[in-house]
Amino acid sequence: MESVDCVVIGAGVVGLAVARALAQQGREVVILEAENTFGTITSARNSEVIHAGIYYPAGSLKARLCVRGKAMLYDYCASHQIAHQRCGKLIVATGPAQVATLEGIRAKAAANGVGDLRLLSREQALELEPNLQCEAALLSPSTGIVDSHGVMLALLGDAERAGAMLAVCSPVQAGAVTGDGIVLEVGGDTATTLLARTVVNAAGLTAPALARRIDGMPAAHVPPQFYAKGCYFTLAGRAPFSRLIYPVPEAAGLGVHLTLDLGGQARFGPNVRWIDEIEYGVDPHDADSFYDEVRRYWPALADGALQPGYAGIRPKISGPGEPAADFRIDGPAVHGVPGLVNLFGIESPGLTASLAIGEMVAAIAE
Ligand SMILES: Cc1cc2nc3c(=O)[nH]c(=O)nc-3n(C[C@H](O)[C@H](O)[C@H](O)COP(=O)(O)OP(=O)(O)OC[C@H]3O[C@@H](n4cnc5c(N)ncnc54)[C@H](O)[C@@H]3O)c2cc1C
Repeated sequence: MESVDCVVIGAGVVGLAVARALAQQGREVVILEAENTFGTITSARNSEVIHAGIYYPAGSLKARLCVRGKAMLYDYCASHQIAHQRCGKLIVATGPAQVATLEGIRAKAAANGVGDLRLLSREQALELEPNLQCEAALLSPSTGIVDSHGVMLALLGDAERAGAMLAVCSPVQAGAVTGDGIVLEVGGDTATTLLARTVVNAAGLTAPALARRIDGMPAAHVPPQFYAKGCYFTLAGRAPFSRLIYPVPEAAGLGVHLTLDLGGQARFGPNVRWIDEIEYGVDPHDADSFYDEVRRYWPALADGALQPGYAGIRPKISGPGEPAADFRIDGPAVHGVPGLVNLFGIESPGLTASLAIGEMVAAIAE
């Protein structure tokens, strides 16, 4: 059996950031990825927004890692020439009842260390974005957009320069905790067994299922796994706004918002649909509810302007109707298994937080 110091399971943005951090500590790292290349699952199916860190409960991992990750990501993009734009975002109150909510959002953000939100009157908001309809808005200047594939390419490059190796088409099927380390059964064309001192489970949507297949990992420390699919629709023609536009948040998601890609194209989404099986189809009929939601802040949206785009799936560990769970970065101090770190529920803002998650995992991985 081959043995290796660290194995990172999953080459999404989080696994790659973890691998980079471990390799830069001088550790031997092998990244095992089930697909035939890196970054094709949730890390390729999101809004590519650098979140400011506004909505999460104060002191939560989501809040802390988002705020730290945002600063790290902006620096990283600048030093690695990764396309990004600090375009800012407006959170819009579309009815009088929502105006008070904006004040609450501003207070929550301040508690998270995001003190730069500005409350705008209707007139001030319209000065920035003349096509907007709103009663008032909150401006978040530190929100931005990023080329997520560019981030992953740079993370992989850094990790490889520090000696890490990526093995694609290498699905981890099962594992067992032994006195010498964790034994992993790896499938694919060149099925093999690996012994690792440290294993980081960064398998995203299936991280809980994988943890359950590691013999010796206590089941009580594995959360349930839920999928909340989000579909996007794209807008033909020129984007009507130059900042990201968000309604006030709703259950399980941030509402049907408008984001921009780095080419200036607008897309709307993601909505929230709880599903049992992983599938990425976009039902054109979903557009009906998008028109209603978007017209609350952009009444000029023309009939037929929305085209089905793509879908992503949120790796949830709390179910429909339950409060959103925090990220779980469970090391030996949590579950008692030496050398194992499980990453559970790394939904949004996982892209923003990825470098901070890498830093944290490298600090707790023995
Ligand atoms: C709709 C949507 C919108 C979002 N928008 C944003 C946003 O704007 N900003 C933001 O910060 N975050 C956003 N997020 C969150 C962000 O996309 C995720 O947190 C992040 O991509 C998670 O990365 P990951 O590496 O944990 O998971 P993934 O990208 O899913 O990577 C996991 C990898 O593990 C591999 N894998 C799985 N099982 C195995 C196995 N057994 N063996 C080997 N490999 C395996 C998979 O093939 C995959 O490549 C959004 C998420 C969704 C769903």
